[in-house]
Amino acid sequence: MNRQEKQVLTDRKFEIENLSDLNHQFEYQSPDDLLLWGAEHFGNTIVLGTGFGPSGVVLIHKITKLQLPIKIFCLDTNLLFKETYSLWDKIEDRFDIRIESVSPILTLEGQAKRHKEELWKTDPDKCCYLRKVLPLQKYLSNKKAWITGLRRSQSEMRKDVGKIEWDPGNKVYKLNPLATWTQEEVWEYIEKNDLPYNPLHDEGYPSIGCIPCTEPSTDQSERSGRWKNLEKTECGIHLPSLKNKLK
Ligand code: SF4
Repeated sequence: MNRQEKQVLTDRKFEIENLSDLNHQFEYQSPDDLLLWGAEHFGNTIVLGTGFGPSGVVLIHKITKLQLPIKIFCLDTNLLFKETYSLWDKIEDRFDIRIESVSPILTLEGQAKRHKEELWKTDPDKCCYLRKVLPLQKYLSNKKAWITGLRRSQSEMRKDVGKIEWDPGNKVYKLNPLATWTQEEVWEYIEKNDLPYNPLHDEGYPSIGCIPCTEPSTDQSERSGRWKNLEKTECGIHLPSLKNKLK
């Protein structure tokens, strides 16, 4: 990183001086208030990232309803379920929007050749890094903020997520408008607004990611079924900011 790039980064990090005041302010405000503030503050440099989970669907609905000029993207690992791709199409049609696909540099064949066949079996962290973390870093490198569907009730790891955070991994701000929502509130909203959702949820999948690392689960936890039998609970795109919270 050259000196000019370092300065841009420093300016960006301290663009919001009163992060903790803002968090107090937004703690009891609605997700709509935070989305409106984000769009006003960051203009066309804020984006929404979604994997089409229930929280993402809620946020897409809110953004389109409020007519905010926030672009939406999905990290497409090329390993998503056909049900996820068809939900993607359905959402684009229903809201008359286009959701950008952010892809890894390596195709699956390229990854197998350069690293290992079915890398997710032997080194899932590296696989997530190549197919999710790196593409996201690249995509966000010319943005100032991104919006996520992270919620505190999703897992122990996520229990402290703030409404607005500095994301040290991607060097942008991160807005979590649904941080205080429960799973019940999300599903109530989906039902009330008759929103589409991934049908795999009705087949026992609490959380849905890539095919090789997602299984049905009877566990009550919202993230169960991902990387079953491994200690891993996060793909890595949120880890730097989550770990930052633990400090
Ligand atoms: S979730 Fe699994 S398949 Fe998807 S990128 Fe991570 S390790 Fe690879």
